[in-house]
Amino acid sequence: MSRVYNFSAGPAVLPEEVLKEAADEMLDYKGSGMSVMEMSHRSKVYDGIIKEAEADLRELMNIPDNYKVLFLQGGASQQFAMIPMNLMKNRKAAYIVTGQWAKKAYQEAKIYGDAVEVASSADKTFSYIPDCSDLPISPDADYVYICENNTIYGTKYKTLPNTKGKTLVADVSSCFLSEPVDVSKYGIIYGGVQKNIGPAGMVIVIIREDLITEDVLPGTPTMLTYKTHADAGSLYNTPNAYCIYVCGKVFKWLKAMGGLEEMKKRNEEKAKILYDYLDQSKMFHGTVVAEDRSLMNVPFVTGDKDMDAKFVKEATAAGLVNLKGHRTVGGMRASIYNAMPKEGVEALVAFMKKFEEENA
Ligand SMILES: *Cc1c(COP(=O)(O)O)cnc(C)c1O
Repeated sequence: MSRVYNFSAGPAVLPEEVLKEAADEMLDYKGSGMSVMEMSHRSKVYDGIIKEAEADLRELMNIPDNYKVLFLQGGASQQFAMIPMNLMKNRKAAYIVTGQWAKKAYQEAKIYGDAVEVASSADKTFSYIPDCSDLPISPDADYVYICENNTIYGTKYKTLPNTKGKTLVADVSSCFLSEPVDVSKYGIIYGGVQKNIGPAGMVIVIIREDLITEDVLPGTPTMLTYKTHADAGSLYNTPNAYCIYVCGKVFKWLKAMGGLEEMKKRNEEKAKILYDYLDQSKMFHGTVVAEDRSLMNVPFVTGDKDMDAKFVKEATAAGLVNLKGHRTVGGMRASIYNAMPKEGVEALVAFMKKFEEENA
């Protein structure tokens, strides 16, 4: 067996300990005589798995009692519609557009009501987070929407926007559990789990209880109503049972590592190794303003397309894989999520140094 350092933006690297445990339990989960994949989601054994996963997540994020945790399908993208369908009572919402995922959410919301772009960083190819201290938010806006970490462009909000008292809704797909958050500042925090938590195909929605109502837009399907899933403890229909099981293992892994304070420390350390190198390199350059840099997704370029391609090719051959930048941005991107060990980032920087010397 040979494992690579996988810098994929998602689906992405998972902790090796978690993969090994899942492998050990594949044929017989704790004496049940079957795999979790083969188990009824209504069984007693599975009930233990989903309840424990939720309890561990609540502990990790310190989620207040007046928030529900939902394990839903449809990925993060399904939330682009589900949020306006459930929250747009006045059919008005403010969107801050800091990249492609925020833009997709904004465009989807326009189907359901008056989604207003109150700020954008499109003018400089999303290389920064706009000033959000005094935005033109309508007094009757139902919520303010952000994408907190921009997976493609590599920017992250260091302070949350001033929502002028409106409910904050945040897509945290690519920074989920990377550092502590104050859940009480949000109405909804949600993210696809395939970036920083588990296998693809699920979204976790943390939602304040008062936002879960029957008063949704006319025509909203039962499956796209938060109340359906909140009332049923995410078991209205068959959930992504195996994914929830793996996520639960990652929550335990995070707890054993020391929780989110410790992850923040480790993530800062890892990102610093890469950013420090980029800041002094004559060949490689980061693409976003320093103060808005993400700890999770680090895009960089040489400024020469052929050199970029050569780098990606040689890095792949050296076991440093999935470094090609997003198709819309070009260059390279290293995603260094929780499960990427410090050794992986050190190996990447050592390889970049060598490449720079050889191609100077
Ligand atoms: C990957 C990603 C999405 C889309 O996730 P899906 O689960 O594929 O729908 C949405 N938002 C952000 C910030 C992402 O990184």
